[in-house]
Amino acid sequence: MPTHSFLRFVVASLVAGLCGWCGCLAQTPEDPARIEADLREAPRCIFHSRISLPVKPGPLTLVYPKWIPGDHSPVGPVVDLTGLKIWADGTEVPWRRDDVDMFAFHLDVPSGAKRLEIKLDYLSPAEANGSREHPAATSKLAVLNWYQLTLYPQGAKSDDLRYVASLRLPAGWKYGTALPVLKESAGEIDFASASLTTLLDSPVIAGAFFRDIDLSPGQKPPHMLHVAADGPAALEASASEIQHLRQLIAEELALFGVRHYRRYDFLLALTDRMPPDGVEHHESSDNRTPEALFLDPDVREMHMDLLPHESVHSWNGKYRRPAGLATPNYQEPMRGDLLWVYEGLTQYLGQILSARAGFWTPEKFRENLAATAAYLNDRPGRTWRDLEDTAISAQLLYGAPPAGSSWRRSVDYYDESTLIWLEADTIIRRESRGRKSLDDFCRKFHGGENSGPKLETYTFEDVVAAMNDTASYNWRTFFLDRIKSHGPGAPLGGIENSGWKLVFNEIMNDHQRSEEAAEFTVDTQFSLGFEAHSPGGPDGGEIQDVVPGSPADHAGLTPGMQLIAVNGRKWTPDLLRDAIRRAKDSNDPIDLLAQNGDYFSTYKIDYHGGERYPHLEAISGKSDVLTEITKMKAAAAVPAK
Ligand SMILES: [Zn+2]
Repeated sequence: MPTHSFLRFVVASLVAGLCGWCGCLAQTPEDPARIEADLREAPRCIFHSRISLPVKPGPLTLVYPKWIPGDHSPVGPVVDLTGLKIWADGTEVPWRRDDVDMFAFHLDVPSGAKRLEIKLDYLSPAEANGSREHPAATSKLAVLNWYQLTLYPQGAKSDDLRYVASLRLPAGWKYGTALPVLKESAGEIDFASASLTTLLDSPVIAGAFFRDIDLSPGQKPPHMLHVAADGPAALEASASEIQHLRQLIAEELALFGVRHYRRYDFLLALTDRMPPDGVEHHESSDNRTPEALFLDPDVREMHMDLLPHESVHSWNGKYRRPAGLATPNYQEPMRGDLLWVYEGLTQYLGQILSARAGFWTPEKFRENLAATAAYLNDRPGRTWRDLEDTAISAQLLYGAPPAGSSWRRSVDYYDESTLIWLEADTIIRRESRGRKSLDDFCRKFHGGENSGPKLETYTFEDVVAAMNDTASYNWRTFFLDRIKSHGPGAPLGGIENSGWKLVFNEIMNDHQRSEEAAEFTVDTQFSLGFEAHSPGGPDGGEIQDVVPGSPADHAGLTPGMQLIAVNGRKWTPDLLRDAIRRAKDSNDPIDLLAQNGDYFSTYKIDYHGGERYPHLEAISGKSDVLTEITKMKAAAAVPAK
């Protein structure tokens, strides 16, 4: 449904009136709310906000955004909403937080008052602390999400509320955002009036070390990459990396056929002070990676698919959205059961676009796919929890620790859906005798007319119907079998249909090698059955997870223990691998000394299978559909100078 149809506005106003939302006539285009964001103290982790809200006298409840789009969870950072003060005509108005809903503030607007003046601060965590609220600022850069600084009347629809925003930044900082700018003067940026939906969908990146890179020079709509980094060296993207990013823009158009944005802005924070993460928006994305993204090939290998993933969401997630995730405001709970489409299809498309755009070679793509497939195939968590339940419980699993994830399961609706959508892609190709592919489904499902941001919701049945429109098959059963399966094993049919099979040998998987190097881990999940932090990195030696049923599990190792020694000698990743290799030709167990709380014990692992790493091996006589899927589809983009 288009977002701003006249009919919808009338209906929304009536409904709001019936629910007794007294602000239903306020915050219109003629009388918008104003919000002034002051980030001049962002390096000290304090964002200031002043809001001027048109109101009517009487009882009013203001709310702080709770359910954050893209996070699919009730994680609005209300714990760090501070300094809340409210005035009407210069007189302070007392507020009282709701006893049950911590995000709601009740007050009485005095008679005669037309506006409330509100002051509040947001305290950004200085360090990543394991919670889902990540730092929003470092000494040299900040990412402003307007939900951090916004209150709005309870019960209103975010499409119906208008805000005019302005922003102040530390002296000398530059910025990028998809929110249209009206004017800039004396250190203040004034933005054009926007709905609350658009405002909260348009974060701003700013920083002292900043670079803009044009990703579609001379074309409309424009595509810009705004990079803010903690140091100047990190901004040095090479000509070939820029070329790949430009190719991505061309490949996305070749895939979907049309665009649903006025412009697209990639916001990219290069910092080690924020956990790697990304959040999608309709006309932009908030991407955060380690500072060395453009400097270290292993970091690039691990994180470069973030940008394709987040930008695919403009089509799959923002334009087409499961009905349960298309809520009228930020207090209404979201339903995640179709995240295997919203996130899972995006994960698949983001990865094949990483190959089509040139971020990954076909070999790297296969190594990544092999590591994903082997990981999922091996995990016993599926015996009690199906893939759909990982999607339904997204709000729990995003914040779950790595310890125990083999048994708990993680947000597997990303990676396992990659296997499901690959299989669907190969079935469309087979059933249509090579005339159609999942690309055709995308043009049908996510295409239509070129437009600005709009929203079309869908259900499971809509997905099945569009798949049947692309190639006739029993898609309902196909999807239900896979999302409700209790295994054993991951859906590997797509790998086989595309001409490859999963094999193990002693040569390290290239993706796992990059992961170990970039994330300071050591990975023996397919041999001994555990992963640990490497000694040089943070949390050195801590065992992250142990696969139930693996040799390490049988020996008694468990997540959270600290690895101390291998066969009596202080451990290193190389010593551990050497011990695995030597045990292959011996009957002696591998002795691991580990610390469990205050106690030390030696754990004897009776394993003699040698090192094991997953790869894809071509099936002789079968055509290589996988390479066809990952081939460049668009014309080569303009080379970067
Ligand atoms: Zn995503």
